[in-house]
Amino acid sequence: MNYDWIKTRAQFDEEKAAVTDPLKGTEWTYQDLNIRAENLANHLQEQGVQRGDVVGIFAPNDVAVIDLLFASFKIGAVYFPMNWRLKPNEIESVIEDSGVKMIFYANRHLSSLQGIADDYLHMDIDSPEYDELVHPRNHKPFKTADVDRDDLAALMYTSGTTGLPKGVMFTYESFTTNAVNTILTYKVNAGFSTVVSLPMFHVFGFNDLVIPLLMAGGSIVLHRYFEGEQLNDLMAKYKPNYLSLIPTMYYAMLVAPNFNVKNFDNIDFLIQGGSAPLPGVQKKFASMGLNIINGYGLTEAPLALINTPTNSLKKPMSIGKPVMYVESRLFDEDFNDVPIGEIGELAIKGKQVTPGYWNKKEATEESFHDGYFLTGDLARLDEEGDIFIVDRRKELIITGGENVLPSEVETVLSAHPLIAQCVVVGFESEKFGETVSAAVLLTENDPDFEEKLDKHMRESLASYKVPKMYLSVTKMPLTSTAKPDKLEVKKMMNRKAEQLKKKD
Ligand code: ATP
Repeated sequence: MNYDWIKTRAQFDEEKAAVTDPLKGTEWTYQDLNIRAENLANHLQEQGVQRGDVVGIFAPNDVAVIDLLFASFKIGAVYFPMNWRLKPNEIESVIEDSGVKMIFYANRHLSSLQGIADDYLHMDIDSPEYDELVHPRNHKPFKTADVDRDDLAALMYTSGTTGLPKGVMFTYESFTTNAVNTILTYKVNAGFSTVVSLPMFHVFGFNDLVIPLLMAGGSIVLHRYFEGEQLNDLMAKYKPNYLSLIPTMYYAMLVAPNFNVKNFDNIDFLIQGGSAPLPGVQKKFASMGLNIINGYGLTEAPLALINTPTNSLKKPMSIGKPVMYVESRLFDEDFNDVPIGEIGELAIKGKQVTPGYWNKKEATEESFHDGYFLTGDLARLDEEGDIFIVDRRKELIITGGENVLPSEVETVLSAHPLIAQCVVVGFESEKFGETVSAAVLLTENDPDFEEKLDKHMRESLASYKVPKMYLSVTKMPLTSTAKPDKLEVKKMMNRKAEQLKKKD
C-alpha cells in the first residue's frame, strides 16, 4: 500500500493552483508539488534516507515544509516538522528524543540550531541549491515505496504548554484519517481556499488545515509568520472562503489598523481552536455577521469535536459534538460517564488518534483507557449533547483546599469593560498552597483598575475565587503556538511578587 496521494491529486488536477507564496511571488500547481516532492525524494534516497528514518524541517510557513511531507510519504520516511519557536533546551530535547537523521532549515532560523544541531544540519531551504534541487525543470521521477498503514508517518511534538514537549506519533492511517474526517465534516472541496497563518509545524495549521485542503484539491496562500495587520492585507488580496486561527490571532486582526469586514466577503467558514474562545472577540465578530465556529483538537487527537454553524450562534463557547468517525466521552475519576451538567475528563476515540508518544511507553499507557485517549481537559455536556471545555485538569487551582476553575474566573473578569484579555493562574502561596491571580491586558490605562476589578469580581464570585493579585501586561505572553502562556504568566507574577517584597 502507498499513501502517495499527492501523485493522484496531481494526475486529476495537474494545472490547478495549489500553493501560493506571496513573499516569493510564486504559485505552484498540483503537478509542481508532486514533481518537487519526487525530486526531493530522490535526493533523500541518495543521501541514504530509508523507510522509517526521521527527517526534520525547521522552517516557517514555506512550500519546503510541504515538499518534505510529500517526499517522506514517497520514501516511507518519518516527517518531522520542528517548532522553530522552541527554546534551546527544548530544541536539544526534541532532537535527541526524535533520533532525527537530518534537518532542513530556513536560513533565518539557523542560529537557533547552531551549536545544538550542527551534526544534523542538511540544507538551507532558502538557498539556490534547494531551489535547483526541487525545481520542476529538473524532474526526476521517483518510484513510491510500499508502507503499512500502521507505520510511523510523522512525529509532531506537543507545544509544551504543560511541560517539555512530547513526541506524538502519527501513523499513515491516523494522519490520513484526520484529513478525511476534516474534509467530510466541513465538506471541503476543490473550491476551498485559505490563508495559512497558523504555524505549519503544529497539528492545527498543518493536519487540520493545509492537508485537508490539498487533499481535496483546494488552494492555500502561505503567510510566512503570523502578524495581524499582514493577515488583514492577505485577506483583502486573496479573499479566501475559509479561515482557521487561534483566538488570539482573531484578536490581533481586529485591533490592527487595517481591519476591514469587507475582507471577509467570501468567507463560508471561520474556525477557531487551540484554546478557549475570547468572548469579547467572538461577540465583536458576531456583531459584524461573522460567525466564528469553535473546534477542538490536540496534537494527540487532531480535530475531534466542532460546533455547527447554527449552534455556534446560540452557544459560541461550545465545542459542539464529535466530528465524523470520532467518539467522545466524559469520564469521572473511576472512568464512569459523568451525568449531564457535571464536569469530567474529555476522552476521544477514533482512527485519527495517535497510537502514543515516541519513546514514552509509560506516558502512552497512562493516556488511554478502554481505547479512549484521555485529553487532560475538563469538560461538561449539556442536555442537547453539546460539550463545553471547562479547563485543563492540570490548571485547576487549589486554594486553601477549594477547587477553582480558572475559566470561571476568566469569564467573569472578561465581562468587565476594562479587560481586553486575561489569564488566570494559581500563584504559589505559603498559606493557601495557591492563590488565584490574574494577568490582564487592559482596554485603557486606569490607575484604579485593581480596585475596580476587585469590586466587580466580588459581586459575582465567592471570595476564594477572587484574584488576590493582578498583573497588568502590555502584551499577553503567548506560547509557541500563540496560546496564552500560563507558565510565563506565573514567572512574571513571581517577578512582581519579588519586587513587592523588596519594596516592603
Ligand atoms: P502540551 O501538551 O505540551 O502542554 P498543548 O496541550 O498546548 O501542549 P496542543 O496539542 O497544541 O498541546 O493543544 C491542545 C490543547 O489545546 C487541548 O488539550 C486543550 O487544552 C486546548 N484546546 C484546543 N482547542 C480548544 C478549544 N476550542 N477550547 C479550549 N481549549 C482548547
